[in-house]
Amino acid sequence: MDMNAPVEKVKGVGPKTAEIFAKVNICTVGDLLYYLPRTYENFQAATHISDLTPGKIVVKGKISDLKIIRTKKRGLTITEGVIRDETGAIRTMWFNQPYRAKQFSDEREYYFTGNYELKNGRYALMSPSATLVQDVEARTNDNQSFQPIYSVKNSVKSQNFHKMFNSLRSDFAQIPDLLPITEDAPDFVQAGARAEALFNVHFPDSQDDVMRGRKYLSYEELFELILAAKLNQNENQKLRSLPLRFSASHTKILVENLPFRLTGAQRKATWEILQDLEHEQPMNRLLQGDVGSGKTVVAAIAAAQAAQNGAQTAILAPTAILAMQHFDSLGKIFAELKQRILASKGLNRSMLVDTKVHGKNLSEAQLGTSESKIATATNQKHRTFRFPRIALLTGATPNKKLVKQALKSGEIDVIVGTHALITDDTVFRELGLCIIDEQHRFGVNQRQKLMLKSPAGTAPHLLSMTATPIPRSLQLTIFGDLDCSIIDELPAGRQPITTKIIQETSQRDQLYPKIRELLQKGQQIYWICRLVEDTPTSSATSVKKQAKKVASVFKEAKVGVLYGKMPVEEKDQVMADFAAGKIEILVSTTVVEVGVNVPNANLIVIQDADDYGLAQLHQLRGRVGRGDQPAYCFLLIPGEDKPSKRLQELEKSTDGFYLAEVDLKIRGPGEIYGSLQHGALNLEIANLNDSVMIAQASHHASEFARTPENLECFPELSQRIQKYQQLTTLN
Ligand code: ADP
Ligand code: MG
Repeated sequence: MDMNAPVEKVKGVGPKTAEIFAKVNICTVGDLLYYLPRTYENFQAATHISDLTPGKIVVKGKISDLKIIRTKKRGLTITEGVIRDETGAIRTMWFNQPYRAKQFSDEREYYFTGNYELKNGRYALMSPSATLVQDVEARTNDNQSFQPIYSVKNSVKSQNFHKMFNSLRSDFAQIPDLLPITEDAPDFVQAGARAEALFNVHFPDSQDDVMRGRKYLSYEELFELILAAKLNQNENQKLRSLPLRFSASHTKILVENLPFRLTGAQRKATWEILQDLEHEQPMNRLLQGDVGSGKTVVAAIAAAQAAQNGAQTAILAPTAILAMQHFDSLGKIFAELKQRILASKGLNRSMLVDTKVHGKNLSEAQLGTSESKIATATNQKHRTFRFPRIALLTGATPNKKLVKQALKSGEIDVIVGTHALITDDTVFRELGLCIIDEQHRFGVNQRQKLMLKSPAGTAPHLLSMTATPIPRSLQLTIFGDLDCSIIDELPAGRQPITTKIIQETSQRDQLYPKIRELLQKGQQIYWICRLVEDTPTSSATSVKKQAKKVASVFKEAKVGVLYGKMPVEEKDQVMADFAAGKIEILVSTTVVEVGVNVPNANLIVIQDADDYGLAQLHQLRGRVGRGDQPAYCFLLIPGEDKPSKRLQELEKSTDGFYLAEVDLKIRGPGEIYGSLQHGALNLEIANLNDSVMIAQASHHASEFARTPENLECFPELSQRIQKYQQLTTLN
């Protein structure tokens, strides 16, 4: 079978189906073979209606009395019907699937599979899937009652998939092997194993067949991932970068003159990074630290080491607000450093220069003055201590041209910016270190564009930072090529954040008093809404509506509004006002999610909390508890809905690493890391908790990767690996 043949070659795939397939990346015969059934149904298990008990059931019957009901409250549509067999009748319903009302013929018999459960005081079969009895009987496997169920967003029917696979059935034996069959491979990797596995998942006679097939395919997936990671590692090792020498005295001065004492975890991470920077091989390190754990200062020390070596650092942030904030905190750290050092040497304060360079005062900034190099007391050999000069570059920066000139001529050591850093006309004199904050917010191409700005023939060192921890299981497989530093300790004095789920109807009693208390203490509050304005299609509360309400409830408070589409200057102004305490309650969308740091804000309300993912909620919550006061997070849910598992977990724990593992279990890696990496990472099968299989695949793949030329004999594998290499590389 030619795996690369276009999918149109398969009987039953017409132009219309091909078009739908293209949207879900099924373009070749191989893609179709790897489009696995969503589930399997065992129609043999069908029960008479008179014998039904609650739980997952299959019934065989006819359906009638279909009608659509629209609910007022949440704008849902409910399709209701009655299923009958010769022994009785039951109610059935689907939510938001209005097409169900027209899907069925009164005359024909179907298998209905779903959960039979109590709904509003009566039993009903909830959202069953339906299969024509006639189609089941037309199947060509030996056990007609055991059926794979396929789905493509309701647009290609499962029966059509059955027809396509039936037409390929006799070719399955000719599916070529994919993996290298070497002595490092586990026993089940043998000639013909792939063909058998694919046959087993598409034409199973039993659940056992399915399990065996899936086991092999998940091995394949793990092998590919790990091999991709190993090859990335090999390629990275071939690159050369500027070694950035470590100076003990320099670092000591720096660390001793920080505004705070580094935590043990910060010290360890810093040490790991500074050591990597010394090598000629580019650093490729991920700094993981929960929100508020203090990653910025670690980045600052790394940047200072680069500057000391005469190399430039680019710090890339996903939003202008965040870039500005990094610029401010780095600026403060470096300026304070300078003051302290100069003061300790008894130098005149009037000699101090601003170590910040921005568009606005670029002409005044004393760029390149000799004052930025001062012989340090600790180093007698006339080596100089270099104070990094730092600048900001975002879309809104005035005098971008001047900043870019200064960058090109090397007058700027550290540049903090957004996508503006990536543009072609941003040129560095000697880019030695890239620091990417919230790395998953950038696409592979964007990151690569920045990395290409280092001097010809070199690659910059790369430090990626993230507050969304990657669970260990994933690190070993998908990100096997990465070195990781973890900050798993919060600065001393942080108060735990008390998290509480409350119903909107009880906010007056449970939430308002707390808000009043904080306002009286001069503290500040975030109030997060999903939408900017009310829309007829959603019941979610909007920023604009909520801001009015908040202003009328807390008359004495100064209320501000923030959302992404506001003009940049306005946004910056609001954020600056909030940071300065001029705004007390900030009603905002999730634009404050990433990294914003206002230590006096100690309470966050998240409206319609169930609309967000776990990682995002944890990030939002991380906006508070950044000072030394007790902090609170209130998760509002409408009506009497039971809180989701996500919210309950969030209420229980503030540990980002724990929550990341929970998130992985609830959603699966494909959904989390697929979208984060801006591509479809198809991890449907692999079980990342299967440590035995991971060890087998890791051994097999590592041995194979020792001789990368081997890959030339495996064109299909090579092609598949490339996709993974693109998706999972961090540089
Ligand atoms: P994140 O890891 O979320 O990016 P930040 O770097 O923004 O965290 O740090 C959060 C806050 O903690 C900042 O106000 C920073 O100045 C402060 N901070 C960082 N490290 C320490 C420390 N060791 N001791 C006290 N405060 C610290
Ligand atoms: Mg941060």
